[in-house]
Amino acid sequence: EAPGKSIRHLLMERMPPDLYDTLKKSGELAESMGFNLFLVGGIVRDMVMRIENLDVDLVVEGDGIIFAKALAEAFGGKVSPHEKYKTAVVRLPGGRRIDLATARLEYYRMPGAFPEVEESTLKLDLYRRDFTINTMAVALNPHRFGELIDFFGAQRDIREKKIRVLHSLSFVEDPSRILRAVRFEKRFNFCLGKQTVSLISSAVQAGFLRNIPGRRIFHEMRQILQEENPVRCMDRLHELKVLEAIHPDLVFDERIRESFVSVRETLFWFRLLYTHEKVRPWFLYCLALTEPMNPETVMSIAEALGLRREDAEMLLASRERVRELMKRLASLSEILPSKAFGILEDAALEEMLYAMSRSRSATFKKIFSTYVTSWRNYRPPVSGKDLLVIGFSQNPELGRCLREIRDQGLNGEIRDFAGAMDYARTFLRGLRQS
Ligand code: ATP
Repeated sequence: EAPGKSIRHLLMERMPPDLYDTLKKSGELAESMGFNLFLVGGIVRDMVMRIENLDVDLVVEGDGIIFAKALAEAFGGKVSPHEKYKTAVVRLPGGRRIDLATARLEYYRMPGAFPEVEESTLKLDLYRRDFTINTMAVALNPHRFGELIDFFGAQRDIREKKIRVLHSLSFVEDPSRILRAVRFEKRFNFCLGKQTVSLISSAVQAGFLRNIPGRRIFHEMRQILQEENPVRCMDRLHELKVLEAIHPDLVFDERIRESFVSVRETLFWFRLLYTHEKVRPWFLYCLALTEPMNPETVMSIAEALGLRREDAEMLLASRERVRELMKRLASLSEILPSKAFGILEDAALEEMLYAMSRSRSATFKKIFSTYVTSWRNYRPPVSGKDLLVIGFSQNPELGRCLREIRDQGLNGEIRDFAGAMDYARTFLRGLRQS
């Protein structure tokens, strides 16, 4: 192969300095051990496309596990090897994670397979990948550090904005790639290649999606639901008849689409305010997807996707809690904060966000947003200890008084410590009189 162009400058520009340094030293270490080391996969694709990505995947031509151990030792990190697959994860002291895989020499030393073993092991590893855009590698050994290796036309396909498989049996080999194709197409605003579309259609029609464990489909589906815009992916899956091929009751109609759009808006609002709080978008979208279904259908789809019964039941339970809380909210004659709080406090945050996305009335939306932004963090101005000091005993009455103080506080009737203590004293007098 002719040497590829150098993208050393890109590495330097796009990587945090410590990571650049780590890659450089890793290449030197590999060289000293007689291995070839490459940066591969999504991080290379994203670097070429100028998109941020810090998930480091390395391929070692040689022995990935031996190399991973040496790497961990050199950097003072921790290694978790996976002997069976000859892969390893190295965690560096600063918290960075490096994934290593082996391009096995012996595997390809079959008679006549590939004469030029050195180059071809990496090439074969890359040939097994899903789409051309994911097949680039960057050499890390010192004499070729930063050299971009592109065997399968990835740069051309990035220029042409195309998602293309590497060969015509790709979806037969692994039908879960159908979902991956759609995910990348929509994420990057690319187009599926013409041939790739027709290979997908054939694979879908032939029912190949039912040939792999449901769990793998679920995994890819969840990835889609974690994308920035799952709506467009779902539209495409619908168009390609992928959903019904997974399960006949899996649909993406206008109604569910609208729910998806509102979930997305709600998540957007939430993430702007709470960047550090984790919610699982895919879970909210699952609630939307299954909302119109009866429980038997949900269980049947869950089974097709290899979900554990408990997990499917948890989804159903969540769905029930959302329905219940919306019903209870709707039945309130007057919306007092303490009353709304009492209804919402037992719901999980995700359930609340879903209910929020589903509410049509501005009043309800406001209740949810006030709960999320303020009520849920409300702490009454007094604690149980304060009440013990003025003569309460440790019994349920103390709890009742604290709850009342909290409610009054939420409603704005009690504003400070003094106000709360007054309330508590009156409460106590009432107790003593009764
Ligand atoms: P993301 O940015 O979503 O993490 P990624 O490209 O890193 O995208 P991963 O799912 O983490 O995607 O996969 C890492 C690499 O492994 C991909 O670049 C791809 O080439 C390869 N890969 C993953 N799944 C498959 C598959 N089913 N078939 C072939 N190759 C795959």
